[in-house]
Amino acid sequence: MSHLISVMVHTPAHSGLGGALTYESDSVLAPGTLVRVPLGSRELLGVVWDEAGTRPCAKETNASTLAPDASHTTASQPSLLAMDDPSHNNAAPAALQLRAIASVLDGVAPLSAHWRQLVQFAARYYQRSAGEVALASLPSQLRDLSAEQWARRLKRKPKPPLANDAPAQAIPTPTDEQAQVLASIDAQSGPFLLFGNTGSGKTEVYLRAAQALLERDPSAQILVMVPEINLTPQLEARFRARFAPQWGSECLVAMHSSLTPAQRLNNWLAAHSGQARIVLGTRMAVFASMPHLQLIVVDEEHDPSYKQQEGARYSARDLAVYRGQLENAKVILGSATPSLESWHHSRPATETEPAGRYMRLAMPSRVGQGALPLVRRVDMNRQPYKTVFSSHLLEAMRERVTRGEQILVLLNRRGYAPVLHCTDCGWKSECPHCSAYRVFHKLDRTLRCHHCGFTQAVTRACPSCGNLDISPLGRGTEQLEEHLAELLADVRRPDGEPIRIARIDADSTRLKGELERQLAEVHAGAVDVLVGTQMIAKGHDFRRVTLVAALNADGALFSSDFRAPERLFSLLMQAAGRAGRDATMNLVSPCEMWVQSHHPQHPLFEALKQHDYPAFADQQLREREQATLPPFSFQALVRAEARSQEAAQDFLNAARDAGSALADELLVDLYPAVPMTIQRIANIERAQMLIECTSRKALQHFLAHWQADLHGLRSAHRQVIRWAVDVDPLAI
Ligand code: ADP
Ligand code: ZN
Ligand code: ZN
Repeated sequence: MSHLISVMVHTPAHSGLGGALTYESDSVLAPGTLVRVPLGSRELLGVVWDEAGTRPCAKETNASTLAPDASHTTASQPSLLAMDDPSHNNAAPAALQLRAIASVLDGVAPLSAHWRQLVQFAARYYQRSAGEVALASLPSQLRDLSAEQWARRLKRKPKPPLANDAPAQAIPTPTDEQAQVLASIDAQSGPFLLFGNTGSGKTEVYLRAAQALLERDPSAQILVMVPEINLTPQLEARFRARFAPQWGSECLVAMHSSLTPAQRLNNWLAAHSGQARIVLGTRMAVFASMPHLQLIVVDEEHDPSYKQQEGARYSARDLAVYRGQLENAKVILGSATPSLESWHHSRPATETEPAGRYMRLAMPSRVGQGALPLVRRVDMNRQPYKTVFSSHLLEAMRERVTRGEQILVLLNRRGYAPVLHCTDCGWKSECPHCSAYRVFHKLDRTLRCHHCGFTQAVTRACPSCGNLDISPLGRGTEQLEEHLAELLADVRRPDGEPIRIARIDADSTRLKGELERQLAEVHAGAVDVLVGTQMIAKGHDFRRVTLVAALNADGALFSSDFRAPERLFSLLMQAAGRAGRDATMNLVSPCEMWVQSHHPQHPLFEALKQHDYPAFADQQLREREQATLPPFSFQALVRAEARSQEAAQDFLNAARDAGSALADELLVDLYPAVPMTIQRIANIERAQMLIECTSRKALQHFLAHWQADLHGLRSAHRQVIRWAVDVDPLAI
């Protein structure tokens, strides 16, 4: 008797298949089992998905080699042959016979039903195939190792836990606020929004909550997600120092994209086997297989990097909330500047309306009473033309570095100058392949496109008219660093040495390990002034910073992206939070955050001055409610790329026509196709179309049915290179 086994494999993104294929097997295989299966001439890794059927005459069912997949409704189910390599398109009809599972991956317990449900949900919600989501979230070595390599890998003995020579560290007594929050987390089911000021001790709350769970249930597992692990190397150290003394050095594993494939496999297996108590990772970790998951922490939950920007464009934060519900694990979302979505979901009850579905827990005070910086706004309209640092700001900076205090200067634009131009003929350094300017990098005298990477050496003369007078327009971090060195050349540190300026941005940290090295220098006090992009604003616990300056923040105030003010506010609040973290410093004058702006009276800066996130959030939410923008409506984007803008838009507008009847019925708005903000990248034209609805359910219903239209239209629009749906997009 042979068994029918449905197996998820990674099918091409737009094949229109759910990803589940049916195979034969001599024995019953439990759902979640990892197997290798033949497909065309290849052998793929797959996951056994459904309960195995036991139909004796498998060969008679060969017309339906595809298991119907609940997550995808396609108009016509293409046959298995359609997905094979082109070379196999002429295969004899005999190929329609069911093929047998090639082998079972030994030594790995089946993936749990919860894990499969999470994958299935993510695939359905974000409009991708479950096979793609499932296989993309497994370590690549499961797929890439040959049977012999795998056997060798399994034989390797687990390393004996290292001796814990690190002495147990003194664990701080929780503050009153921390104790209250912990009591609520213990008593309620959540999900929780931990709205805690920068430096209020949120990390300490995560550590305590994790510890309480581990003490109660020694098999419990905890998932801690952070936006970018490279930016906060000290967080991993903190968790390790707390838990290794009691639970061993193997109790914590990391999961992020800069691990080697071998490390990734090791850590994945440690989590999957239940051996690792704590998984610390970036957004991909939301899919970690953890059989005893009991707590999920999403630190800095507002951070846009929780949204995956390719393939299945999932929000790891939103999936974390779903997963918590699914597995009955507690979820803590933490931030000093929560996303407006989470803020709205955690609204308290009013007389007329019930509370949101998250529980908001506040920690307004900083531990040790280190004061938040005094915010000072500089009206740039009153400064001489082309002022970079107002004289007052410069004076304040000079005083502080002389006293040995540290300064952060934030400018969200890397390179030397965003554009080079010719004063004679008006030539500008446009990228020939993109609708964008190439940025001037003075260090290596190149013009670099930040979108397609196209790089050329800067010519002496204008390439258009030969004029020798070509000059930078605008300012980036590289130029700022150079300029500051001149402005502060005569200033001395308390030890009589010249002051040291460093720059941290995507350029200065390109080499592996460079970011960690530079951050360590700042922590060690070897740097007096740190210039950088948003990378320097996030999460760092720099102890001696007493002044933060934000230059040129105005761009976001008038952006066409309705989320730009939210992002700017959170960036500035985070940056402000880097100052004054050490209350024991004997300060001559209080910490300061300086903001240079042409619109200093803007309500955003008013709220910043008061450190009043709730005021800012409430004002923004009122505006969004009036305009029916998220979280008061739900959005999706379809993006299309083609050789011509017309072709991209034609495809989208055809899709719009195809979906309009259903959209009308479901009260879903389909907007006309428009070019994307950066319309052309690497000679590919990009267009997008917005879909909006006040009901998440109706939007989901619409998207699920409309998928078939989109797939179907592809053949009539051969010029379209690719298209993708982005559900709950972050950038519009
Ligand atoms: P956040 O994550 O909110 O920025 P942290 O948890 O990093 O805050 O805490 C800020 C600083 O205060 C850290 O140096 C931390 O060690 C310290 N800290 C946190 N909680 C306590 C406490 N209860 N007692 C003493 N120090 C604490
Ligand atoms: Zn010229
Ligand atoms: Zn380019």
